[in-house]
Amino acid sequence: MKATEPERFWSHVVKGPAADDCWIWTGAIADDGYGRFWTKAGDGQKVMRPQRFAYQLATGTALPSSVLLLHSCDVPICVHAVIDAAESHLSEGTHKMNMLDRAQKNRHANRWSAWRFNGLAREERTQRSRDLRDVILTHGWDPERMSAALAGVEETHPRLF
Ligand SMILES: [Zn+2]
Repeated sequence: MKATEPERFWSHVVKGPAADDCWIWTGAIADDGYGRFWTKAGDGQKVMRPQRFAYQLATGTALPSSVLLLHSCDVPICVHAVIDAAESHLSEGTHKMNMLDRAQKNRHANRWSAWRFNGLAREERTQRSRDLRDVILTHGWDPERMSAALAGVEETHPRLF
């Protein structure tokens, strides 16, 4: 039997064991540090950000392209979208809200916010997303290795400010 699109989607996601943990996308990651998921569209394919796909699965409604999704956990490849806004790591917003959100640092911080994706340059963010994905693909959900991998990134790519 062929896997359905949601089945295919979840096969690329590793969920942390705690209720507030991130659900990490382990599929393709593009040069902006965000994931990519290819869905069927007519005879062709359409590429989506995985967090949008997850959010639409959770809410059951299509998101207009004008609506941004904000990560309260600050992990670009997290797809932890659920209906309950208090639990969800993803919420709808505008660009303005996105900037406000960035200003209110770690408003919904969880333990993974220590990875500080926020404010990183595009290349660093991409590297960090891919390192996180690769360690999970190799070792599964292993917080020590995950943190170590990201700490290593910080040493070899010092922040510029
Ligand atoms: Zn998250």
